[in-house]
Amino acid sequence: MRPFGYERAGTIDDALAAAAQPGTALLAGGTELLNWMRLGLAEPERVIDVTRIAGLDAIDSLAGGGLRIGAIARLNDVAADPRVRGGWPVLHDAIHKAASAQLRNLATIGGNLLQKTRCAYFRSEDPDVPCNRRSAGSGCAAISGYGDRHALFGWTEECIATHPADPPVALAALDAEVVTRRPGAAGRRIPIGELYMLPGERVDADTVLERGEVIEALELPAPAPGSAYVKVRERESYEYALVAAAGTVELSGDGAISSARIALGSVAMRPWRLRAAEQRLAGLRPDAPEVTDVLRGALADARPAAAGGYKVAIAVGAARRALMNAARAVA
Ligand code: SF4
Repeated sequence: MRPFGYERAGTIDDALAAAAQPGTALLAGGTELLNWMRLGLAEPERVIDVTRIAGLDAIDSLAGGGLRIGAIARLNDVAADPRVRGGWPVLHDAIHKAASAQLRNLATIGGNLLQKTRCAYFRSEDPDVPCNRRSAGSGCAAISGYGDRHALFGWTEECIATHPADPPVALAALDAEVVTRRPGAAGRRIPIGELYMLPGERVDADTVLERGEVIEALELPAPAPGSAYVKVRERESYEYALVAAAGTVELSGDGAISSARIALGSVAMRPWRLRAAEQRLAGLRPDAPEVTDVLRGALADARPAAAGGYKVAIAVGAARRALMNAARAVA
């Protein structure tokens, strides 16, 4: 790891000014940044600690029933908030399944959004392994190598990786927005699904955030008490997802689905909404066999990269369980 300077930002304006300077990295929980620095994926000249900025960890109710979550709110603090537990259980569940308790006590919700792929070649300690995401034009070792965890959607020959984080999948199903600040320009409100870049858009950037742009908060729209998160992984104790699914449902008086939202995780470099399927679910009972048919149809467009074909069936099952669990929560 290269030597670096350390400073502490007292205000978000301090952080913005610092982030605009080349060679700067912002430090929140540090659970990702320090890994990047150890592996040479990030080599900042100075690290700006933003964890002491007053108010940036606040969780505030919004007019209209929504919730604003400050970027440096710790994952466990978000999950423990009674408003989140009751109003947005899909986010509570996704956070709980995202990491060990120790990591959740350190990691922040804003930092979690900015995780990088867990592709083993990208994170290799051998800097000569071909990886376009790590070294432009070097190739993609995963395509011809060990590749059973890679993408189903939105990949190119340049990169077949997936985004590994759980909370963004829940946030995608909730239609959450990311609120940013930019140095010298107005901040932005970015729908969570538009935060991430697919390899066909840019392979050397994970998000649309500009240099110096800082995530200030996340905003959740109206509560979704009928919501649930399913994470399929090799070890239940702690592991990244093979496939994850976040679902929300609203039921009509006869118990049929009146509206539903579904997002899949670990199938692309961004949470993957199944919007066409969401429309087709309206009017079906959550336990109807046709629900599985609709989900299979939604996955018909999947294009498994490398040896990831088995993930298609897992995705159908995970989405089905997420919808059933979401419906049970409000039945
Ligand atoms: Fe790198 Fe992407 Fe290929 Fe993995 S899949 S080796 S991250 S280019």
